[in-house]
Amino acid sequence: MGKLDGRVVIVTGAARGQGEQEARLFAAEGARVVLGDVLDDQGEALAKELGDGVAKYVHLDVSQEEGWVRAVGVAKDTFGKIDGLVNNAGILRFNELVNTPLEEFQQIIQVNQVGAFLGIRTVAPEIEAAGGGTIVNTASYTALTGMAYVGAYAATKHAILGLTRVAAMELAGKGIRVNAVCPGAVDTPMTNPAALDPTADPAESAAAVAGLYKKLVPLGRIGRPEEVAALALFLTSDDSSYITGQPFVVDGGWLAGVSIG
Ligand code: NAD
Repeated sequence: MGKLDGRVVIVTGAARGQGEQEARLFAAEGARVVLGDVLDDQGEALAKELGDGVAKYVHLDVSQEEGWVRAVGVAKDTFGKIDGLVNNAGILRFNELVNTPLEEFQQIIQVNQVGAFLGIRTVAPEIEAAGGGTIVNTASYTALTGMAYVGAYAATKHAILGLTRVAAMELAGKGIRVNAVCPGAVDTPMTNPAALDPTADPAESAAAVAGLYKKLVPLGRIGRPEEVAALALFLTSDDSSYITGQPFVVDGGWLAGVSIG
């Protein structure tokens, strides 16, 4: 028996990285999954691999309200209901605050923060209609501490925790639990864009990333997207039935304190 048997979960940003691993794990645990992303070829390919009747891809730009309405329609037409949402889609840009163009700051807010808000607002009534369920928002360790050169991103991730707490309070009476995952550094194209660059040496860029996190993270390595997916599964399944409104850090100990040496 799977931990998500009978469940129907929308995962945003599901074409690659953490969202992809969440979709794979949830499907393996018995859920039917709706994969939303803007990377249509990769999303379609993943849905095909997971199989008809298990996964359905839908083009969903989380920053746009009409995309959410369409995704909910596709999910209900395909699987009959929705009782879970993982707000995973996100973007990262590096810039000093004083050099960040307003347009860039607003774009990051629109995807990371407004995207999660629209997801909660559009999908929560469907989850309620299905008899209750779960929402998992993707924050970050930068929701709990600062990090130079990612000001806009960190601001949105702090905001995700505020949204999570308020949504948890407002939706508890409707049978919906809302929690947040706060990953540290995780090995995806977001942290290692060189892996997507055909001109870069993949072994060299992997070695550079590995070397950096060996020093910074107490557990001595970067995280795997599967390790974030395991936490998202916990928060989506009944294993977390008495937990709502909380941030959960998955970071190899990075936030535990300041290391010496
Ligand atoms: P990723 O870049 O590999 O994946 C992000 C996915 O989101 C991609 O498939 C992308 O196409 C999709 N996406 C981007 N904009 C979108 C939009 N407007 N609408 C729909 N989909 C969109 O990165 P990842 O590491 O898998 O990131 C997943 C989440 O985890 C993000 O919210 C990110 O901020 C968060 N996070 C990542 C790390 C890390 O170290 N990788 C750490 C903390 C938090």
